[in-house]
Amino acid sequence: MPAPKCPGQDMRYWTAEDIFDVACPFCGDEIEFWKDEPIRLCSGCGVEVRNPRIDLGCAKWCKFAEECLGKNVDHLTAAAPIIETLRASLAKALKDEPKRLAFAEEVHRLADTLAVPEREADPRVLKCAALLLGADVAPFPKHADLPQDLPEQAGLDAETSSSVRQTMDEAQSSPCPEGAEIRIVHDALVLAQAQHAAPPPNPETLADSLVLHSARLLARHRFQSD
Ligand SMILES: [Zn+2]
Repeated sequence: MPAPKCPGQDMRYWTAEDIFDVACPFCGDEIEFWKDEPIRLCSGCGVEVRNPRIDLGCAKWCKFAEECLGKNVDHLTAAAPIIETLRASLAKALKDEPKRLAFAEEVHRLADTLAVPEREADPRVLKCAALLLGADVAPFPKHADLPQDLPEQAGLDAETSSSVRQTMDEAQSSPCPEGAEIRIVHDALVLAQAQHAAPPPNPETLADSLVLHSARLLARHRFQSD
């Protein structure tokens, strides 16, 4: 008997819209995704790209998630409840500072994109550090100080919270120290700041200040002059 599947992932119920093209965030090439594929390798630049439309909602509770989506589901969903709680607290704390909140979300989104090929990184640490550091160093006037215990409030244990704070500190050091989470947050922050720089940075100078291969590809793609 074939393994049972949840209806959301069963191909018999799929339509043409369940297969779609996504532009690679690193090189701009088109990547064809089937809706249940969490990650694909871009044939243009070789970076693993996350499926932006995948619904991992069912994978958080479905006992067949591993058969449906593969073994890396835990990696993708374990951090979700903590990150969503942190994003909600941050939105509340920064309700009068929408630009600062948007910058924090931008650093977080970039860190998320850069994290896909870095399998040894702890998504809880890098996502929390990206959000909080983005809120801390956003290039806008600050009105409110953030509560110091946001990681704990979001449900992180003391040890992981201290890794978050250490990652935030070290991601701002130059040269950037070793460590997957530190390097991802460092490059996400540099890229987010570059997006607000006037005039726009030279793509090669920007690429030189980044440590991850995927971040350099992203910098060259976003800032190339044509
Ligand atoms: Zn690509």
